[in-house]
Amino acid sequence: MIRFCSLGSGSSGNATVVEATSGITTTRLLIDAGFSLRELETRLGRAALAPEDLDAVFVTHEHSDHIGCAVALAARHDLPVWMSRGTWRALGEAVAPPRLRFARDGETIAVGDLEVRPFTVAHDAAEPLQLRCGDGDRGVGVLTDLGSITEHMLEQIAGCEALVLECNHDEAMLAASRYPPSLKARIGGRYGHLSNAIAAELLGHVSGSLCQLVAAHLSRENNRPALVREALASAWGSGPEDIVVADPVAGFAWLHAG
Ligand SMILES: [Zn+2]
Ligand SMILES: [Zn+2]
Repeated sequence: MIRFCSLGSGSSGNATVVEATSGITTTRLLIDAGFSLRELETRLGRAALAPEDLDAVFVTHEHSDHIGCAVALAARHDLPVWMSRGTWRALGEAVAPPRLRFARDGETIAVGDLEVRPFTVAHDAAEPLQLRCGDGDRGVGVLTDLGSITEHMLEQIAGCEALVLECNHDEAMLAASRYPPSLKARIGGRYGHLSNAIAAELLGHVSGSLCQLVAAHLSRENNRPALVREALASAWGSGPEDIVVADPVAGFAWLHAG
């Protein structure tokens, strides 16, 4: 059995917990820790978890809304922390949590009952990885930061039962925003963040296996949950209310894959 929840999602911080249970064993992976240590511990508590309940941390890339307290958390609670070599170099190689492990595109990592498969995405970080997490039966794709759809990424998430998918901005709202042109170009570019329209296009490539869809990493300034639901529902063929939208503060409560 596999389930997942978010401790918050948006440009102010991201953290997702994926949990696999097999018989009497349970494994929990924290994906990103984009909050202060105190805040993260508070948010874990909301999901009825403590840091001791985690088995490992995976950092997808070095942006502050993802790395957050990951290194301090891993050091304090003696957790293995996975990241790409590029992410580690971008942090400054002096940053060396005691149980640092390197992850690479396409190399499956076994974390207890979880199979974690990282894969490269188009995003403006040193070596960003996004993840597919499975328990050998069902799979969850976690795609919070990416600028465009690639064949490689589509191959990795094919057949997932659940997907956490970035819906960063509404293209018209971003165009009309007061952001400087350079920032608009960065966000909307191939290595920036997914718009609602491109997220909807991505759904068109994902097979019919998908049962649970969560929209994540919404911009406070340039998006609205209603616009996200409208865009994704028409692409997925569901009702707008079937789409869970992750909140920057509340995240989303536990959901089952499948
Ligand atoms: Zn990022
Ligand atoms: Zn981000």
